[in-house]
Amino acid sequence: MRFVHETLPQRVRLASGRGTAAVEGEVTLLGATRVMVIASEQEAGLAESVTTGLPVALTYDDVVMHVPVEVADRTHTAADAAEADVIVTVGGGSTTGLGKAVALTTGLPIVAVPTTYAGSEATYVWSLTQGAVKTTGLDRRVLPRTVMYDATLMTGLPVDLSVASGLNALAQCVDSLWAPRTDPINGPLAAEGVRALRIGLSHVVADPHSIEGREKTIHGAYLAAVRSRPPDPGLHHKICHVLGGRYDLPHAQTHAAVLPHVSRSTSRTHPSGCRLAAAFGTPTALAGLEQLRATVGAPRVRDHGFREDQVADAVSAVLPVVPPSNPTPVTTENLHALLRAVWEGADPA
Ligand code: NAD
Repeated sequence: MRFVHETLPQRVRLASGRGTAAVEGEVTLLGATRVMVIASEQEAGLAESVTTGLPVALTYDDVVMHVPVEVADRTHTAADAAEADVIVTVGGGSTTGLGKAVALTTGLPIVAVPTTYAGSEATYVWSLTQGAVKTTGLDRRVLPRTVMYDATLMTGLPVDLSVASGLNALAQCVDSLWAPRTDPINGPLAAEGVRALRIGLSHVVADPHSIEGREKTIHGAYLAAVRSRPPDPGLHHKICHVLGGRYDLPHAQTHAAVLPHVSRSTSRTHPSGCRLAAAFGTPTALAGLEQLRATVGAPRVRDHGFREDQVADAVSAVLPVVPPSNPTPVTTENLHALLRAVWEGADPA
């Protein structure tokens, strides 16, 4: 057994109902006195509730999905002008992503307060978009110093968004079981992530205000994201990257729609298929995924603008980027069948 695994330095707090005091404690611990709060207009109320009592120098709401370079530049200038010494982000992956873009160029520490299950808060991956091209990279400076989770901030996240966001986290777990350069420490984290997300999401769908369900989902989403270094993307992520970038499909919904179809082929042949089945508590991994889809529902990419006549184009874009280590051989024919099934939203079984 040979591998290299680094554990990232980050404090994580789960403080449901006590988020305001927890954020204040974390900012004090960093010795910061001029806080820049980043939160989109929609999350302004949530941000206000957890940042009262902080020495706020600037509240900033110019959040745009996929972090356009111009937005990042404007935010950096605003942080400089306010002489901020810490960034507190309150929001989903788009908000955390903007905080990371500023940390990348300023080195400012981030206290992240997530309000979705995107998981960006637990990685040192940054991304920026110039025109239609999204670039991602790895930099230790963008890893938030502290993540403060408060499940009460998520009870208003609509069920369909919660499911898409949670299934996106589940996709991270599943893909990391067989992605290139995964390691034996990531495996158990991913399997426990699947278990927590399966239980958590079922609770959230039954009762969106269930703190227990929200906390379990947070637990799973954090496990999905916390890895020393994200493994090189597997087939699932390659497909989602092409679909999202080429046809402008939403991030979480695309992951949720693609996941069972890629897992169908891989889970049958890869040894981790058994680990996945055990995490679902079902005889096979596919049965577990299907049971979860039946309980929580799942988005379809066709509802977000992906057309049947784009399937062939998607096949030609995905084929050259298929990881050579994919557990099952990928051909034009089986990839076409897979992407057509994704388009149709067919039952993968
Ligand atoms: P998002 O942050 O754009 O939020 C989606 C929607 O949910 C928005 O309209 C937002 O206003 C709303 N919302 C957020 N929290 C809410 C709440 N508690 N109640 C009600 N509404 C709420 O989307 P996302 O899926 O969280 O993040 C997607 C972005 O994150 C993408 O750009 C993706 O690339 C990035 N991402 C990055 C990483 C990384 O490691 N760098 C990991 C995952 C995702």
